[in-house]
Amino acid sequence: MTSSARSAWLRTLGLVGVPTGAGLLCGAIAHRPELGLAIGALAAVGWQMWRIASLVARLTQGRHARPDASADIYGEIERLLHRRQASTRLRKRRLVGMLRAYRAAATVLPDAVIVVERDSQRIVWFNEAGTTLLGLRYPNDIDASVVERLPGLPMASWLTRGRHAEPLEIASPLNGNITLSLRLLPYSDELWLLVARDVSRLLQLEQMRRDFVANVSHELRTPLTVLHGYLDMLDPSEQPEWAPMIAEMQRQSSRMTQLVEDLLTLSRLESRVDLPSEEVIPMAGMLAALRREALALSQGRHEIDVDDRADVDLFGSPKELHSAFSNLVANAVRYTPAGGRIRVTWETEIDMDGATGAALSVTDTGYGIPAAHLPRITERFYRVSTSRSRESGGTGLGLSIAKHVLNLHQARLDIRSDVGVGSTFSCHFGAARVRGRQPLEQIA
Ligand code: ADP
Repeated sequence: MTSSARSAWLRTLGLVGVPTGAGLLCGAIAHRPELGLAIGALAAVGWQMWRIASLVARLTQGRHARPDASADIYGEIERLLHRRQASTRLRKRRLVGMLRAYRAAATVLPDAVIVVERDSQRIVWFNEAGTTLLGLRYPNDIDASVVERLPGLPMASWLTRGRHAEPLEIASPLNGNITLSLRLLPYSDELWLLVARDVSRLLQLEQMRRDFVANVSHELRTPLTVLHGYLDMLDPSEQPEWAPMIAEMQRQSSRMTQLVEDLLTLSRLESRVDLPSEEVIPMAGMLAALRREALALSQGRHEIDVDDRADVDLFGSPKELHSAFSNLVANAVRYTPAGGRIRVTWETEIDMDGATGAALSVTDTGYGIPAAHLPRITERFYRVSTSRSRESGGTGLGLSIAKHVLNLHQARLDIRSDVGVGSTFSCHFGAARVRGRQPLEQIA
C-alpha cells in the first residue's frame, strides 16, 4: 500500500471513529451512552454513504470530471481510477496511431495487398495498388468474392499448401503489358493476404539475359565450326613435334563447341513454356540407348545395370527427355571412380495426387555431393569441384538442362547424395505423363 493510501485509510478511520466516539461521550454525559453511540455511528455511516454516493456520481460523470481532492479513501480511489483511465486512454491513442501508420504504409505499398477472409474467400480490405494493378474498386469490391473478381486463382491449392504455395503469374486485368506474380499468404487463422507484385521488369531483364546468351552462343557457333574443321584437317603424323599441341587444341575446341551447344539448348528450353512435340516414348528403346551411352563413356571402367521394372512408357518430347536422362547417366559415369557401379531404374510409383506415375532413377557409387551444395546443384555452371568437372569434360550445364526438360514435362528432379557413398538422381513423372506399354509389333 502506498503512503498516500495508508494516510487516506487512517483519515477515513478517523472520520468513522470521531463521530462515533463523540456520540458515545455525549451519551455518557447524558447517561444514555447507547443512544449517544447509536447517533454517533449513524452520523459516521451517513457520512460514508454520502461520500460513496458522490464518488459514484463523479465516476458516472465520465472523463471530464476533475478528480476529487479529498484526502479520504474515496478521494484516493477516485484519483487511482482517474490515473488508470488516463494511461489506458494514452495507450489506446498510441495503438490507434500505430494502426493508422501501418494502414497508411500498406496503402502506399507498390505491391497490391488484399486481405481475404479464409473461409468465405471474401475481400476484407485492399490498398491503392489493388486498384491500380488488379482493378479492384472501393467500396464496391469490399465483401466481394475474390474468385469472382479475379477469376482463375488456384485458391484451393493455395489454401492447402499455405506458405509453401507456388506463386501464380498472370497479366494485369488493367494492362496486358504488366505481369503480376500473385501469392496467398496466411497471417491469422481467419485472414489471409493476397499479394500481387509487378514482375514485368524482372521478366524483361530475364528475357534480355536469355537473348544475350542465345545470341552470343549463336555468333560463336560458326567461327568455332570453322576452327574445328581446320584442326581436324591437321595431320599430327606429318609434324610429330606438333602432335601434343594439335591434340590439346582439338580437345579444347570440342569443349567449346559442346559448351556453345549446351548454352543454345538451355536458352531454347528456357524460352519455351510448352514442348515442341509430344509423343509416346517407348522406354525399352530409351533405356537401351542410355545403356549403350553409359558403356561407351565408361569404357569398361564401371559395372552398368539397367533395371526396367515398369510396364509403362512416357508421353513427352523424346529428344529433350533423352538429353535430360543421358546428362544424368553421363554425370554418374564421370563422377564415379573406376570399379564403381551405375544403375538406371525405371519403375512405377504413386504420384502426389495418389495416381500411378513413374520414375527414372540413376544411382551411382561415386564421389557424392556434400549436402551444402545440393540446393544449388542445378544452377547453370554450378559445380562442386570445378577441376573435376573440367577434367571429366563437363560444361556445368547438364543438370540445368535436365531440370528444365523435367519442368516442361511437369516432372520433378530429386537428388539424394552421400559423400563417398554415391548419389541418386530421380526424375518423377505424374500420371498424366505415363502410358501403358504398347506391344512391340504395335509400335512397329
Ligand atoms: P558438369 O558438366 O560440371 O557435370 P552438371 O550440371 O551436369 O555439370 O553437374 C553440376 C555439378 O554437379 C558437377 O560439376 C558435379 O560437381 C555435380 N554432380 C553432378 N552429378 C553428379 C554425380 N552423379 N555425382 C557427384 N557429383 C555430381
